[in-house]
Amino acid sequence: MSTGPRVLIDTRWSPKRNPEKEEKRKSGVDPTMLTSLSTDKFYDSEETQKKRKIEEGKKKVRELDREEKDNPKWCVHFRQQEMFEDADNKLGIFPRTYFCEESAESHGKPVRKYFAVKRLDMFWKYYYRNKRDKHCYELMREDTQCHLYFDLEFSREANPDLDGESLVDHLLELIVEEFDTTPEIDSSKFNPKEHVIELDSTSATKFSRHLIIKLPDDQVFENNSHCAHFVRKLMSRVESRRGEDARCDALFLKKDLDDVERTETFIDLGVYTRNRVFRVYLSSKYSEKKDKPALRTTGRFWKSDDEEETFKKSLASAMSLTTEVKVISFEGVTHTSVLRGNVFQGYRTGSHLVRPASEFNGNSIGPCPRTAEFVCKDFNRWSGHGGAAVRSWTAFPEYGVLVLNLFGNRFCENIERSHRSNNVMFVVDFRESAYYQRCHDPDCRGTRGPWHELNEDVLDESHSLLKMLYERPSFEEIDDEELAVAVPTFDGFRDEEIAQLAATL
Ligand SMILES: [Zn+2]
Repeated sequence: MSTGPRVLIDTRWSPKRNPEKEEKRKSGVDPTMLTSLSTDKFYDSEETQKKRKIEEGKKKVRELDREEKDNPKWCVHFRQQEMFEDADNKLGIFPRTYFCEESAESHGKPVRKYFAVKRLDMFWKYYYRNKRDKHCYELMREDTQCHLYFDLEFSREANPDLDGESLVDHLLELIVEEFDTTPEIDSSKFNPKEHVIELDSTSATKFSRHLIIKLPDDQVFENNSHCAHFVRKLMSRVESRRGEDARCDALFLKKDLDDVERTETFIDLGVYTRNRVFRVYLSSKYSEKKDKPALRTTGRFWKSDDEEETFKKSLASAMSLTTEVKVISFEGVTHTSVLRGNVFQGYRTGSHLVRPASEFNGNSIGPCPRTAEFVCKDFNRWSGHGGAAVRSWTAFPEYGVLVLNLFGNRFCENIERSHRSNNVMFVVDFRESAYYQRCHDPDCRGTRGPWHELNEDVLDESHSLLKMLYERPSFEEIDDEELAVAVPTFDGFRDEEIAQLAATL
């Protein structure tokens, strides 16, 4: 006997008749279509439609062009400097906010676009439209006003038992105490629920928060170097009270898992450099794996359900339209001039030098040895010559700029061949992740080569550059005579020329 299922067909069942469908089947024409046919309802042919769309598109572009020309709302460039120049020419004196956006990479590097934006609501629309994968940073242009901001981070692996949130609370208390000892700041109306915005992008391995503090009564910092001054002032007090004040002690952490000493500061001091970029609300760091968390509000202090409002409120750049702002500035603090900023210099080891430069800064080719090596190799490659080596270097840490004086390879991009007696130099600009050539030859005065990209795996050395500001190289063990040998000179350069060079960096 069969055990499989039996299929039953009920022969009594048949579908209902549909006279309209039957009519259509017979004639081959849908009767409803006949009634709607009249000549004015003819559709354009595909070709005509396409042409019309193109014409409309062109017209729209022309209109937008005209409008943009008369009254541009923003400009976009792939180079920061070009964006600044364009914005200064086109956007007038209106307040602007600057942004930098990273997107899918070309040749293994994320593509960076720079924006100067007159109207934040327009930028928000652009920014918000791309719902997934936002990688945007505000750019604090030098000499523009800003609010007080902090980048707080530590390795969770190296500090497994640490409660980051209570660290933020300790820090905020210390900040308020620092306000009280800073006559330039009026904190009498300060209220965290109103004036502090906290953003979080903590991952499994790294605690990471931003604090943005908008002081009451439109108090803004003259620029981020004044923020830096305030933060350094705060940190020196914190450091001096380690051992007495548990809150101060808590702000020092382990950097790596096997560290014994807690030497790393909770506050990242590297975020106050000139033209600094700072990640914005809803953005994550660009990563090939797309695994980086985005910045979101914790809602512990100021909060709003409106995402656009939160975006605007959480920007550290200040773009107030009123002239009522009270500008906070500290005397003698500036990074408007390279020459007034910190400058460090060193020489490479050589038989003609008494002491190797390593004794000044821990290595023989300056604070960024991998970068120096990369530039030499890259220069040899694209010049088709060999032998490039660093003879001396000059660092401008506040600017993220390192100047390398070379020997061995004298190829000059300006004249497209080697100079007979004059050496060339390279200006490494970590802000641009790129470097360019300058030349000691009088014929090449004022010229500079095109940008060459830096390799991504050397970019972290910009931190070593900045570190020089906090861990100054010691000259103590070197006697005066030897020091005299190491005193910086640019071979064949006069002081005015150095000044000129510095001004154009
Ligand atoms: Zn030259």
